Amino acid sequence: MDKLFNKLNKIADLIIKQNVPLKKYTTFKVGGPALYFLIPETENSLLQLVEIIQNTNLPHFVLGKGSNIIVGDKGYNGIIIYTGHLDEINVKNNNIIAQSGVTLKNIAETAQKNSLTGIEFASGIPGSLGGAIFMNAGAYGSEMSDIIQEVSALKKNSGKLILKKEDLNLSYRNSIFQSKEYIITTASLALSKGNQNKIKEKMQKLNQKRKNNQPLEYPSAGSSFKRPKGYYTGPLIERANLKGYQIGGAQVSKKHAGFIINKDEATAKDIVRLIRKIQKEVYKTSGVKLKPEPKFLGKF
Ligand SMILES: Cc1cc2nc3c(=O)[nH]c(=O)nc-3n(C[C@H](O)[C@H](O)[C@H](O)COP(=O)(O)OP(=O)(O)OC[C@H]3O[C@@H](n4cnc5c(N)ncnc54)[C@H](O)[C@@H]3O)c2cc1C
Repeated sequence: MDKLFNKLNKIADLIIKQNVPLKKYTTFKVGGPALYFLIPETENSLLQLVEIIQNTNLPHFVLGKGSNIIVGDKGYNGIIIYTGHLDEINVKNNNIIAQSGVTLKNIAETAQKNSLTGIEFASGIPGSLGGAIFMNAGAYGSEMSDIIQEVSALKKNSGKLILKKEDLNLSYRNSIFQSKEYIITTASLALSKGNQNKIKEKMQKLNQKRKNNQPLEYPSAGSSFKRPKGYYTGPLIERANLKGYQIGGAQVSKKHAGFIINKDEATAKDIVRLIRKIQKEVYKTSGVKLKPEPKFLGKF
């Protein structure tokens, strides 16, 4: 292990931490410690660290804003690569070119200041650009696939590659990145010229809608389940009589049954037990198999 530390320690612009509690880095506020927590501050340091870790037998995981993951209480016995410091953003004509750690909020605000429309739908999604591309995040009838033009990524043993939108297999909350071990470094988003005030109004309207309908006052990972074709998750869970149902500190939100919230110091185990209970009851009452939307990481 010390050998790995010594190698990583030689990389410039890389912050190395050990035994970092992941609950600090997830919006659900659950999760035990990560063995290594690496913060590359440049793409070059990311490239160098990937070269080193591909020769270790520890697993690794790329972490954006942690708004779509559930980390086990016993933590992650591997290497977290946190993209939060890869935060460069540039505007070129009608395109925004940003590094993967830039937040969607920042991109939407930059677009608005530059009279660019097309990303208002994502201004209230609390993720990073990398996480949003990985998930093909979407809201209010739009999704990332509507605006992604090109993505740069690193692939184990192959260095840097550039992927066009057609190469990304983007579909409902899915992308090629969910089946391949690529690390997204930068992306170019194609937007169009619009009216600054109208863009601002649209973002405000959508974010107000979010506040009214979603339990933003509690930690969560957003929608707990993917929307099954032909159904809405919230009503399915209500029909199973689980709105407000609680296991330990995890609760089915009373405001929006599609969200599980961390009501009172929930553990990851509470959340997982609640997910299973919902799946079982919804299948019993409606015959629908719900699939969790967040990704799971570590030991539970
Ligand atoms: C209150 C709330 C509301 C939400 N509303 C919405 C919504 O309206 N629509 C929606 O789609 N989602 C929503 N979400 C879910 C979440 O915000 C999105 O899925 C978001 O895109 C995840 O981004 P992230 O940076 O937090 O990713 P993380 O949670 O950090 O990671 C998610 C996955 O992406 C991978 N990943 C992250 N960065 C990279 C990278 N650079 N390269 C490769 N892989 C990477 C991770 O390994 C992980 O598997 C909501 C969440 C919350 C808490």
